[in-house]
Amino acid sequence: MKTLKIGRAIVKPGQRRRVEIPLTETYLGTGLAMPVTVLRALRPGPVVLVTAAVHGDELNGIEVVRELDEEVRVEALRRGALVLAPILNVPAFLAGSRYLPDRRDLNRSFPGSRHGSLASRIANRILRSLVLKADYVIDLHTASTERTNLPHVRGDLRDARVRRVARAFGSEVVVHKPASRRTLRGAAMKAGVAAILFEAGEANLFQRDMVQRGLNGVRNVLRALRMLEGKPARPQYRVIVKRAMWVRARKGGILDIRVRPGDVVYRGDTIAITTFPFGHERDVIQAPATGMVLGVHRLPLANPGNAICHLVRLAKTLKTVERALGMAETEAPATEAVAAAAAAAAGGPGEGGAAGGAGGGSKEEAGATAAAAAGAGAQARGEDEAATAGEDGAEAGRTAGGRGAGGAAPGPGGDGADAGVGGSRGPGRDPHSASPRTDATDA
Ligand SMILES: [Zn+2]
Repeated sequence: MKTLKIGRAIVKPGQRRRVEIPLTETYLGTGLAMPVTVLRALRPGPVVLVTAAVHGDELNGIEVVRELDEEVRVEALRRGALVLAPILNVPAFLAGSRYLPDRRDLNRSFPGSRHGSLASRIANRILRSLVLKADYVIDLHTASTERTNLPHVRGDLRDARVRRVARAFGSEVVVHKPASRRTLRGAAMKAGVAAILFEAGEANLFQRDMVQRGLNGVRNVLRALRMLEGKPARPQYRVIVKRAMWVRARKGGILDIRVRPGDVVYRGDTIAITTFPFGHERDVIQAPATGMVLGVHRLPLANPGNAICHLVRLAKTLKTVERALGMAETEAPATEAVAAAAAAAAGGPGEGGAAGGAGGGSKEEAGATAAAAAGAGAQARGEDEAATAGEDGAEAGRTAGGRGAGGAAPGPGGDGADAGVGGSRGPGRDPHSASPRTDATDA
């Protein structure tokens, strides 16, 4: 059986070990080590590494990894090994900063070297001690300071293993994005390790709904890899998107952002309005394309050129998303069907009523409609600008209608049993119901 050595510890089958991996030294000359937990099943299988806080202020992922550490028992691990690294960037974490004390971005310092800068050495240590020992990496992030992100997975979907885990994670939005080789994900991919990244929420907070989404996602991947019992739960809809863009402020001023992560916006819709402390002029920033809001700026102030909204284009998948969210304008009967179906799937007259009421809504009500429909459990899948777009898009409508109406019409994966799960998932609901509401509370 293959030897699994993490740090100085050789982890044997059936063992759970806590390992400290020396990263660097402080001004006091004392060592600074990274805590890692390794669980190894009795049976051989893939090694999955889950990492967080490569940016020291991105805290949601730390809690995801901590809860995994608490919840997964080595006896329950059916095969392979699970390596949990809750805090990669220990110096930045201790300083409450995104960056290392030398102001370098650890996630732009891979693959690094033994003799390079502080960042380069730490990156290289992480690569050699952890990443190269793994078959799969799930790297957990949040948006950077003063931004917030819709929970979504990023990965290079040209790689079949990445495609598999990216889909299994169960995020509604999957962004196909080859990684820069200076990032952990890029260095992993270059070394033949299949890596995905999960983005959720914002820095410097524990956001319970985002943590839950991350936790569900990692569990789903472990189930898909047959490392944990059970089948991965499917998202309420899934779109795979390739084209993302930043909408930027044109003028400096006071920024009033009118969209939230998860909102569907149409070309020409108002994204934000810039006003000025003196006078009554205003600058209206419109959506340059139709798409879904992936992330927004949080600070209500802008200089020209500030990135204020991250938008993914929805082209072939637009109809899928509109149907899944119960917001198709021109197809009233179909929308009603979805809304009714969603109500049936949710099994609750309260939520069903909300979905039905919002179903015929205009695009201005996108947020509310999305929340209602998503909460009620509409199911659909779609893929933008990818080879299978047509198939998935077509399938989505049928799945959404069929499932709700029939109660548990099996999808392509044959997992009809989870058809009603969406509506009753509790705290781990869905970005379209959870994240915008959370943002409103946090603001
Ligand atoms: Zn990050």
